[in-house]
Amino acid sequence: MRPLVLAVPLVLLASAPASAQPAGPKNGIKITWLGHAAFEIVSPGGTNLLIDPFLKDDPATPADRKDLSKYKPAAILVSHAHPDHAADAVAIAKSSGAKVISTFEWVSALPIPDGQKQGGNVGGTFTVGDVTVSLVPAMHSSEPGRPLGFVLKFSDGRTLYHTGDTWIFGDMALIQEIHKPTIILMNSGGGPFTQAPAQAALALKKYFKPKVIIPMHFGTFPGLASEADVIKAYGKDKRFTLMKPGESRTF
Ligand SMILES: [Zn+2]
Repeated sequence: MRPLVLAVPLVLLASAPASAQPAGPKNGIKITWLGHAAFEIVSPGGTNLLIDPFLKDDPATPADRKDLSKYKPAAILVSHAHPDHAADAVAIAKSSGAKVISTFEWVSALPIPDGQKQGGNVGGTFTVGDVTVSLVPAMHSSEPGRPLGFVLKFSDGRTLYHTGDTWIFGDMALIQEIHKPTIILMNSGGGPFTQAPAQAALALKKYFKPKVIIPMHFGTFPGLASEADVIKAYGKDKRFTLMKPGESRTF
């Protein structure tokens, strides 16, 4: 049974001054793939955001990125409650003091101080340093709450879309119309749970016009799409950027 929650805030805003963040890559967006759906994003203004931290037990996460105490994000964004996205969120929130952004129902139940809980829902927006984080739908499951994707808008006007776990769905057209993602971190994992690489490639062709496409959520476990499957599906698309877990790139 779902807890009875009546006091859902209508305006979902949180802010932290950009000056509180360490200096970031000059005019660039630094993206580090930590394996599976986990990414560390550093904005042009130096705001550090951690998305879907599944690190300690992720076989794809390099050993030197498994020490959770080293992560000092301003916010942790969790697309949904499944352990391959949320496993290390509480530990990092506790060690770093970072805010946790996800669905209201899930965030409200976390064993962290209330001041770090940033629960929202589809259509909601948060401000973290110089980044605006918008919550968008994903076609998946999650309990409690619901699955999300995230769109990050940076001060230079560029946008980054992390799809979360999803299948191709028609409202991706609205995500394009409203947010016009410049960089897409695209679920391409296939297997029993999410869209296969070919469906991910179809979604990109049908709905989006990004400059950079970074596939994710593949190769982590047996049964998921392999790197070769992903390369085959994306073909010779010049926007396709294949990263390795632990690798950083600045765009
Ligand atoms: Zn997943």
